[in-house]
Amino acid sequence: MSADPAQLYLLSQLLVAGMAAVTMPVLLFIAAPYGRHAGPGWGPQVNARLSWIVMEAPAPLLFLATYAAGPNAWRPVPLLLCGLWVVHYTYRAFLYPLRLRNRGKKNALLAVVLAFLFNCANSFANAWAISFEATHLDRSWLFDPRLWFGTVLFVVGHAVNRRSDDILIHLRKPGETGYRIPQGGLFRWVSCPNYLGEIIEWAGFALAAWTRPALLFFLFTCANLLPRALANHRWYLEKFPDYPKERKALIPYVL
Ligand code: NDP
Repeated sequence: MSADPAQLYLLSQLLVAGMAAVTMPVLLFIAAPYGRHAGPGWGPQVNARLSWIVMEAPAPLLFLATYAAGPNAWRPVPLLLCGLWVVHYTYRAFLYPLRLRNRGKKNALLAVVLAFLFNCANSFANAWAISFEATHLDRSWLFDPRLWFGTVLFVVGHAVNRRSDDILIHLRKPGETGYRIPQGGLFRWVSCPNYLGEIIEWAGFALAAWTRPALLFFLFTCANLLPRALANHRWYLEKFPDYPKERKALIPYVL
């Protein structure tokens, strides 16, 4: 018995929507057990660098495999959207983990498995939407401001995300594993500009693609990263008595 792709498409969207609905309330009370919030009591632990590659790899690979099989794969608008996705996820799955200064660090296997499942469902749904489903992503979409405003938003978010990742990575010298107060860039205003950039990116993608899976992914990203930003911000305030008091968690001057 072979799986019906249309059913898989629906199921994967339901999974992403379900995970978004559960993630926000759960993470407001319990910080996801990876990075600074990792610790005992979450079952088996796995190598942090390897876990990033394993959990993120389906996002570019499954996306590309699904996208390439679609009838719209060589059309200009789907190609542009595919390019945005692949640029982000080639960085996140294969370049970012190799740059991390996290020797000896571990993440909970549970968090890795959940992220892996999420990435499978999310990348399949988004690739299928763009390459098989969406009838609006034809040449006329090239003249729709949503495409270009969304693309600019995505590029700005990506730049903010990568610059902030860079600042965080370089807080440690090679071999170090401790924490410092980040300075510079958007850290002047918020504790987690890397998450702010990520949220802006997927808002831009949702606008440019104008598909349900892209909207669900944006909502999931907010549900995931807003509570994480609040938890990180509280953690900084508890750990560093001299932490800048005017700095917010995620949105300058607001939150
Ligand atoms: P963090 O900010 O927690 O950590 C990023 C890296 O920097 C880690 O190696 C961390 O070390 C290190 N680091 C962080 N703060 C400090 C500090 N103060 N001093 C020294 N080193 C520090 O980010 P995440 O790991 O949560 O996320 C990484 C990227 O993935 C982000 O760009 C984020 O936007 C993206 N992401 C996207 C999600 C989505 O839903 N779309 C979900 C989760 C992440 P250590 O690991 O040892 O703490």
